[in-house]
Amino acid sequence: MSQKDDTKEPTMTLCATKRLFKIDGKKEFRWVEAKVSDLAQRAEVRCLYCKGAVRLHFKKQAHGMEDHCEHKAHQDSVFCRAGHFFEDEHRESLNPVE
Ligand SMILES: [Zn+2]
Repeated sequence: MSQKDDTKEPTMTLCATKRLFKIDGKKEFRWVEAKVSDLAQRAEVRCLYCKGAVRLHFKKQAHGMEDHCEHKAHQDSVFCRAGHFFEDEHRESLNPVE
């Protein structure tokens, strides 16, 4: 078996976050696409592609990695097309964040 490439650049600079909308006079939270760099550390987020839980990572140094997010569950990063360990079959997370 060949070694996994651990130096792969993160591609998940986008995620989904909950935003409050007013629809027919009713307030409703909906998931919308957002750039990680526009979010606060405590924002409510999930993966844009598989709905799995993600952890936000913000750039700490000028030349560090870009702001991005990573799946919390290893399983999600294997079955999500944006995942670090994605193989070939995209699936929704088994534990989607609702
Ligand atoms: Zn995902």
